[in-house]
Amino acid sequence: MAYTTGITDESKDIKDEIKALLHKRKAILLAHNYQRPEVQDIADLCGDSLELSIKASQTDAAVIVFCGVHFMAETASILCPDKKVILPVSNAGCPMADMITAKELRRKKEGLSKGKRVIVISYVNTTADIKAETDICCTSANVIQVVNSVDTSRQIFMTPDKNLAQYAIKHTGRNIVYWEGFCPVHNNLTVGQVREAKSAHPEALFLAHPECPPEILDLADEVKSTSGMIAYAGSSESREFIIGTEIGILHPLSKANPGKSFFPADPGMICSDMKKIGLREILTALQTMQPEVKVPREIREKAKGAVDRMLAIPSGDL
Ligand code: SF4
Repeated sequence: MAYTTGITDESKDIKDEIKALLHKRKAILLAHNYQRPEVQDIADLCGDSLELSIKASQTDAAVIVFCGVHFMAETASILCPDKKVILPVSNAGCPMADMITAKELRRKKEGLSKGKRVIVISYVNTTADIKAETDICCTSANVIQVVNSVDTSRQIFMTPDKNLAQYAIKHTGRNIVYWEGFCPVHNNLTVGQVREAKSAHPEALFLAHPECPPEILDLADEVKSTSGMIAYAGSSESREFIIGTEIGILHPLSKANPGKSFFPADPGMICSDMKKIGLREILTALQTMQPEVKVPREIREKAKGAVDRMLAIPSGDL
């Protein structure tokens, strides 16, 4: 594994400097559940991307330091326009979000809209440009409720994740046309790897993220978002779990459940973009207050409409 646990004297000094600068800048440090353990440990808030931005919007922080990937920092900018948003490593991107452009989405909409009324549902793991072309966003936790909220006379087009779309089709019975995007980290998990993990840990429940392919979800005891997995593992009577998502989540799962054991479905489920930010990058970002991510107003307002329409649906989960 390319990243460290961060338990060194040097990192203790860096952590102290980060804390002092966070205070001085009136900044809040957010870390996605897939971030390196040492980054999660120093963050003010850890969680799913949208959940983090919503919680940050409810604080009086002037600055958000987002330890995640670019679309997450954009979402923070969309929901917190009065706060300065910093992504410590500017090229921390998301291959799945980059699989569709706004131009491609517009072309797809035009093609589909001949004689039909199309509604675009976009997973929050998309760029701000895509959200601005979207009718309603969804998360991996509320996708079923969002799809069910759409009038049955409408043709649904979902982007960018084909696996999330197929999961929604299976659980709603709706006719959904979808973009063929995918998260390489989840899409590469194989049935053979899951079977191997299950035979190594026969008592364990298998929790899978809906970004995994349908044949993987068919093997799952539960399909959950990252925050959903943390909540489920905490309340379950089971003591062992096989986890089908990016391995960064093993850190918060183990931390929150000291008496339980968590095993990766595949130890190779590592998102290299999610590991680009370390303590040193956070410190430099706080010293320079760069690189900033700011979504232009016209895009922001349209994108926020798609997020707000999702939040208006009573789903209970994000
Ligand atoms: S884990 Fe997948 S969806 Fe998440 S940032 Fe990495 S590539 Fe994108």
